[in-house]
Amino acid sequence: MTPRTFGIYVHIPFCVRACPYCAHNKITRWDEEVLAHYVEALLREARIWAGSLAHRPVESLYIGGGTPSVLPLHLMEKLILGLRSLFPGLEATRGERKPEITVEMNPEHVTPERIQHLQGLGVERISLGVQSLIPEELRFLGRTHQPAHVFRAIEILHRVGIPERSVDLIFGFTGQTLQSWEATLRQVARLPLTHISTYELTLEPGTPFWIKARQGAVLLLPERTRLAMYLIKEQILEEAGFPRYEISNHAQPGHASRHNLLYWRRQDVLGLGSGATGQLGARRYINTFHVRKYVHSLLQGTSPPRYQETLSEDQILLERVFLGLRLSEGLPLPPDLLERAVQTWPAWVEVRGGRLILRFPEGVFHAETLAVEIATWWKT
Ligand code: SF4
Repeated sequence: MTPRTFGIYVHIPFCVRACPYCAHNKITRWDEEVLAHYVEALLREARIWAGSLAHRPVESLYIGGGTPSVLPLHLMEKLILGLRSLFPGLEATRGERKPEITVEMNPEHVTPERIQHLQGLGVERISLGVQSLIPEELRFLGRTHQPAHVFRAIEILHRVGIPERSVDLIFGFTGQTLQSWEATLRQVARLPLTHISTYELTLEPGTPFWIKARQGAVLLLPERTRLAMYLIKEQILEEAGFPRYEISNHAQPGHASRHNLLYWRRQDVLGLGSGATGQLGARRYINTFHVRKYVHSLLQGTSPPRYQETLSEDQILLERVFLGLRLSEGLPLPPDLLERAVQTWPAWVEVRGGRLILRFPEGVFHAETLAVEIATWWKT
């Protein structure tokens, strides 16, 4: 039997400044020695896993954060070359396809030298945390870049020849308007990009925004406005040649994120790093958020503290349905369930090629309710 493919996620939990909405695991006080120890710890953790995974083909490597672009070039090189030597699947080409290697960057960290260096290490996909192209909105979100950094960064990625260029945008926060969101979208859609992710701002427990909201601040726009923002995003990006392939993600045809597809298709992803989540079959784990404890345990020769659980078949089924329905390609279902779904929600779903597809917008907006119902049918 051919071994199953898997992805590798590496978490770099260092940021220049903490954005007030962000719940990702990160620290803002670090120096080069801390970074060097962290990369060493990452490679030690990778070595532990390589014993059981090195024979399997690798679909993708995603270096995210935090802010991976704070790593100096020599540490990024050590990390990527170290992973490539531990997982031969990262070197292999299957047919025309090489594993997809992505690095997240802040726009202000993009320089031709850095991008050429990453390219030399096999990186072909860069994802930029852009969030908005309106200076006041970037300030509100606590970002350290200006719109000019974004334009310059994307021009460099394009000129140097990075084939997969992605940006993240945020909508739905106080101070943003339908007009300013539309202006950001229209400008972004004209840039030489291949992929655009858009996220509605949520107030994550423990973040400064969440604390402010509990003290009475209004940080989210009314639901009606957020809905209008979602709809206008859909229209502008579709018209610009970026169809939606997942509820929050748009790409030019053939440019969907292969790494993210692993999550939505519920395939295996090895998570490395402090706060990284991994999912291998029914097993799911999350490494300690405590960066020092993570490094200390690995440098002492032991696995990092982590919480782990084994999911039941019912939990896996629910996840598979919930995640699969988010994708525009739809969810493969047995014929009797497809028929039942269409009869139950004729305005919200349709069937194409043996898959259940959510109609836009009603089906997409009711994705969660539908997932719970379908998973219940499936297991009875
Ligand atoms: S949004 Fe990105 S840059 Fe800002 S704190 Fe979170 S991980 Fe760091």
